[in-house]
Amino acid sequence: MTKGIRNLHPVVAIGVSKENLSSLNRFLNTLPEHTGMTLIIVPYPDQDTPDIIGQINSLKPKRSFYPAKHNTRLKPNHMYIVQENVPFSLSNGKLVASEEQMHETTLGHMFRSIAKTQGNKAIGILLSGSGSHALSGLSEIKAAGGRTFAHAHRLTHDDSSHCNGDGHCVDMFLTPEQIARELARLVHQHSIENIPSPNDQKRLMDKAKISRIFADAIVNSISESLLILNSELNVIEANKIFYNKFDTTVKDTEQKLIYELCDHQWNIPELKHALEELLPISKSLRDFEISRDFLSIGHRIMLLNARQIILDEIGLPLILLTIEDITQRRTAEKQMEEMAKFPLENPNPVMRISFDGTIIYTNQPADFFLAQTGLRNGSLISKKWQSVIQETIATGKPVRIEEDLNHGETFCFSFAPLIQSGYVNIYGMDITDRKKAEREKQRLMDEMAVKQKELEHVNQELDGLMAILSHDLRSPIQTLQAYGKLLREKVYGQIDNDSKHFIDRIQHTAYHMNTLLSDLLSLSKVNKIKNPYEEFHVNDLIVSVRESVESDINRFNVELIVRDTMPVIYSDRVKLREVFLNLINNAIKYSSKIPNQHPVIEIGYTQKENCHEFYVKDNGIGIEPKFHDKIFELFVRLHSRTEYDGTGAGLNITRKIMNSLNGKIWVRSEIGQGAAFYFTVPVLKKD
Ligand code: ADP
Repeated sequence: MTKGIRNLHPVVAIGVSKENLSSLNRFLNTLPEHTGMTLIIVPYPDQDTPDIIGQINSLKPKRSFYPAKHNTRLKPNHMYIVQENVPFSLSNGKLVASEEQMHETTLGHMFRSIAKTQGNKAIGILLSGSGSHALSGLSEIKAAGGRTFAHAHRLTHDDSSHCNGDGHCVDMFLTPEQIARELARLVHQHSIENIPSPNDQKRLMDKAKISRIFADAIVNSISESLLILNSELNVIEANKIFYNKFDTTVKDTEQKLIYELCDHQWNIPELKHALEELLPISKSLRDFEISRDFLSIGHRIMLLNARQIILDEIGLPLILLTIEDITQRRTAEKQMEEMAKFPLENPNPVMRISFDGTIIYTNQPADFFLAQTGLRNGSLISKKWQSVIQETIATGKPVRIEEDLNHGETFCFSFAPLIQSGYVNIYGMDITDRKKAEREKQRLMDEMAVKQKELEHVNQELDGLMAILSHDLRSPIQTLQAYGKLLREKVYGQIDNDSKHFIDRIQHTAYHMNTLLSDLLSLSKVNKIKNPYEEFHVNDLIVSVRESVESDINRFNVELIVRDTMPVIYSDRVKLREVFLNLINNAIKYSSKIPNQHPVIEIGYTQKENCHEFYVKDNGIGIEPKFHDKIFELFVRLHSRTEYDGTGAGLNITRKIMNSLNGKIWVRSEIGQGAAFYFTVPVLKKD
């Protein structure tokens, strides 16, 4: 039993007769305090003795006693008392109340248990009482390489004939003091004995160093988290992957019970069961999966594999525990599962094609497509589709194509490459309705474009016609005007009033027709004539317009106010002059006949973000809001010619001009409240 005792944490089971505890007293008083051993005292016979701890305590030993309880973790230099009539065993460094039916005494059971679990670190002592019932347990300690002692006066050599095998189950028959000293000596002797010579020391150190480097290399080359635990499930070592993965330190890991790691996040009942119940029996744990929310890394699925190994030199079981994070793998597997299910459940055609273009799978909705193309599972797809397959494999990206089928259906096919799996999935979708709608929309748009062209053509022809008409009709009207003038000069003084009225009407109608023709001519010219853009001050423009209407201003005593500072703008000056002239003329016309009020016309300007905004406001008769759009139509007039002279073309020409300048025009007015015409022109910069 000498081998390795220095490295061990020996467990000493001591049988004492309850009637005679004095030998225990003598033993304990002699045994040094820090031997590093764990003492388990098993009083017998086994009937319950409620105050056994009290009795033992009254011996005033140097140490405290702890009652043996289920799951008590054994510690060195501690003493435990098995007081109940329940056999306790040792399992993973813990005392475990055995539920098996007892075929032997509590003491015998304990001896056998430490022999089994502690091997050469097991020590059995019979201190008082005959203990003959526990001798087979002592035999097992010896067989396991452990040491056995008995109080010379209590157990005789004859009793040891009850031993198993060769009958020598007790190494030494000594007094309690001698047993205590022998234990102390053994511990001491082995610590000295095992000090190697300087040569051996170097050799051993080299060996240890190499072993250490070797072990470290293995530990750190493992790509998963690895923990090395002792039989008590304390961490002896962890690899870097573990520290990185769980964001923890050596200080918070080594020497800690596995359940205490990472803020007790490993304190998982299933893991406890696996490590404490399953592992000791099967010596290994395979693919034990735990799913859990970890504080530092969130929800994770971990795969644990453990193996119990016994290192010869130490003689102690170690547990290698690898922890593999399989969260991603599980997620991917789930996705794969979903994908695999997908074609089956997809109401649209799905086909799976190998890279060489062979159909390897089709779902039921694809039958319709296959029937039309004459293809089936195992067929080679068309050359066109094969080249799409090659394209999608080369780019690794999905490719979409549209196909018109035989019976007027249109399908969209998405080719999705699954490079790892070695095939391409083709997802089809019936887009016949959408395609029809798109085609109809396109047809309507084409139709509209044709109509628009026709309209433009008609407009052009109309403009041309108006130009010809106004030009050709102008000279007969001018002749009519000239003869009317002559007639008036020649006969006006000699004719009666009726005849005078007829001459007035002829002259007036000729004048009106002439104005109408001028308006038509300007209308036909609006889009045709493009004056060069120039930079000008709008004030100058208004001054020029004012000069043109000077006689009316004077005639009707018009007050013309230019409200705001006018800007310099870059635009078609000639056309804008026409706009101002039309609006000012109307303003004068529709505000000059109101009794007891002279016309007041205001011209204003506002600089907007992208445009210049002007207005021409009057204090005239106003316009009902329902006519605000109407008045811009050609020949629309709200009054008879006898009330207000005009052709009804002025505002239409003005709006056409504004459109041609990319501007807008609108009116704000109420009946009897005057009218304000607003218009905008874009802000343009010269060059
Ligand atoms: P015209 O003035 O020759 O009749 P317009 O096209 O210039 O033709 O104007 C159309 C109609 O809009 C006019 O007949 C008139 O009823 C109305 N109108 C135009 N300007 C004004 C205004 N400043 N005040 C009131 N009514 C107006």
